[in-house]
Amino acid sequence: MTDVPPERLEFTRPFSLPLRRRFRGVTSREGWLLEGPAGWGEFSPFWDYDTYRCLPWLRAAYEAAFVGWPSPVRTLVPVNAIVPAVGPEDAAELVRQSGCSTAKVKVGEAGQSLADDVARVAAVRDALGREGRVRIDVNGGWEVDDAVRRIKALDIAARGLEYVEQPCASVEELALLRRKIDVPVAADESVRITDDPLRVVRAEAADIVVLKVAPLGGVSSCLLLAEQLGLPVVVSSALESSVGLAAGVALAAALPELPYACGLATGRLLAADVVSSTLVPVDGMLDLRPVVPDADALAAVVPSDELQRRMADRLGDALGAA
Ligand SMILES: [Mg+2]
Repeated sequence: MTDVPPERLEFTRPFSLPLRRRFRGVTSREGWLLEGPAGWGEFSPFWDYDTYRCLPWLRAAYEAAFVGWPSPVRTLVPVNAIVPAVGPEDAAELVRQSGCSTAKVKVGEAGQSLADDVARVAAVRDALGREGRVRIDVNGGWEVDDAVRRIKALDIAARGLEYVEQPCASVEELALLRRKIDVPVAADESVRITDDPLRVVRAEAADIVVLKVAPLGGVSSCLLLAEQLGLPVVVSSALESSVGLAAGVALAAALPELPYACGLATGRLLAADVVSSTLVPVDGMLDLRPVVPDADALAAVVPSDELQRRMADRLGDALGAA
């Protein structure tokens, strides 16, 4: 990683943010903030990431603090409501509260049945109305034949799915599945957790790609990757604080085309933040604005000594490898 001088990366503000509900298997988000002439950057890789997978997060933080982001072509970014694997009543309520006209529904959760997914998706469609868009995220959980059957049932329950995100784990399976269903396929993990993100294009395995700024090394890296991929992009968060989310908004604002709502409404999942006013959508839109941490907010989310030691060790490992 020759483009980041590690000695300039003085991460001084640690944080630990509780989530409102368990999401993606985690109940809190830990990270560090970095200040530079261009603004604030965030380093908050998930705990299960090894040192190598933490390096793009350093690059993204460096870019935000020292380099800055490409020029925007829009100032408002449409975002989707997030519906975890909850019951149908809760799902409908989350959609109604969100103010969004697109919802992303988690399906295929371990321990739940297709009937659970069908009920949730149908409730979300009812809450959104006919004009709304319903997409589902499987996080790679299904085999191809099983995926065909489930997606058909969910497409009916949704009265038309916008797309299905990462229905199967491998690129080969996505390519095979894509030929068997009418619903567009979006690739998320297949682009993000790989050394070869362009393989989904060569294999014709996806119609849409999900890009996340921090795991992919920053806004400019993502813009370049989007150009190389040549597919419509949905920008999503990695459950960052508002400082990290702002980088996602910057990417969404800089993309030449933005045909789909973005997955950047995760500020609502935070029970605390590093800013006084969390980046959450108004009428389904996030606005492009500078995000600056707030001293009182930061003081309220200082990690315990023990946790901070673990965080410092991990940051040190990443900086040492940079
Ligand atoms: Mg996903």
